[in-house]
Amino acid sequence: MARLDGKVALITGGASGMGKVASHLFAREGAKVVLTDVADDAGEAVATAIRGEGGQAAYVHADVSRASDAEAMVRFATDTFGGLTVLYNNAGVFPERDGSVTETPEEVWDLTIGINLKGVYLGCRYGIPAMIESGGGSIVNVASFVALMGAATPQIAYTASKGGVLSMTREIAVEFARQGVRANSLCPGPIETPLLQELLADPARRQRRLVHIPMGRFGQAEEIANAALFLASDESSYMTGTALVVDGGITAAYVTPE
Ligand code: NAD
Repeated sequence: MARLDGKVALITGGASGMGKVASHLFAREGAKVVLTDVADDAGEAVATAIRGEGGQAAYVHADVSRASDAEAMVRFATDTFGGLTVLYNNAGVFPERDGSVTETPEEVWDLTIGINLKGVYLGCRYGIPAMIESGGGSIVNVASFVALMGAATPQIAYTASKGGVLSMTREIAVEFARQGVRANSLCPGPIETPLLQELLADPARRQRRLVHIPMGRFGQAEEIANAALFLASDESSYMTGTALVVDGGITAAYVTPE
């Protein structure tokens, strides 16, 4: 039996990076997958590729920062696959102009919080009633290791958005525990996806981060998708309100190996 047999999983930001890899993995594990994004051609291509591999998947456009889109993506999932049991709030942005609190423009703050934090709120706002109606389920909200420690290479809006995801997820977990809805955060370390392409292409910026990773390497999207799969599946049935950290040892380290 596959690990997500019988589940209907909604994955936001499924056109690229970790959301794309998770969409494939969840479908291989038996889930019916609805993936959403604002990059429609890439999103449709992921759904088509999954169906080509024999999986069940459908793509729908949804900007997670817009309430009407969030409501419509949940309705699309329940109309298409008859319910909702996994909600993977993965969509996020990492704007170049997000930096020090004294320099970050207000519009960059609003954009980042609007997608990374409000987007998770809206996904839960519309997703939770559908999950309760489906008999319960698992929410996986993507935070980051930067929600757990400070950096001298600041991205104030991004960090604040991910901190908000952590505390919001805890509260959601407590509120809905007795209705069969679990909610956990996932905290990736730096992962080699299109999100970090520019940063990791610069040797100095790459090295500055690498020295803080005990494992001595960046993570791969598959390594996060596997953790998300565990949280989405019934294997994590007694876990709610936690943060699963998948960071190559960053948050455990004070001094890293030479
Ligand atoms: P990515 O850029 O490869 O994928 C993100 C996807 O989200 C893209 O397809 C993008 O089009 C989509 N998206 C952006 N704005 C959207 C919106 N308003 N509505 C719907 N979709 C939208 O990035 P990734 O690295 O796979 O990141 C996935 C998640 O993991 C993000 O929440 C990110 O903050 C988080 N994260 C990434 C890293 C990393 O190092 N890559 C580390 C920690 C956390």
